[in-house]
Amino acid sequence: MAPTPAPVTIDVQRDVAVTLTWPDGAVTRFDLEDLRQHCPCAECRGRRDSNLTVWPVASSPRPLRIVDAELVGAWGLGITWNDGHSTGIYSWELLRPDRPE
Ligand SMILES: [Zn+2]
Repeated sequence: MAPTPAPVTIDVQRDVAVTLTWPDGAVTRFDLEDLRQHCPCAECRGRRDSNLTVWPVASSPRPLRIVDAELVGAWGLGITWNDGHSTGIYSWELLRPDRPE
């Protein structure tokens, strides 16, 4: 299976959503809470595996907001959240679960 190509554009609306446009014209959009709750880092995966809430926890600032977002190599997007969490790297595969083969 070929690696998922990088999106053509990444529109980060820091208070709302992240929208990605792919080379074939497909568009995927993720609400911030959805992205945060599906954070792919080891810590958050562990919390989900233990049926613990990933976000929000008692100390989570509300509303959720993206502080910073940057490309990680050629394969994903790193997001820093306003709760200080920044270890999750969202790969293109993760951000494009519906891609056609
Ligand atoms: Zn995480």
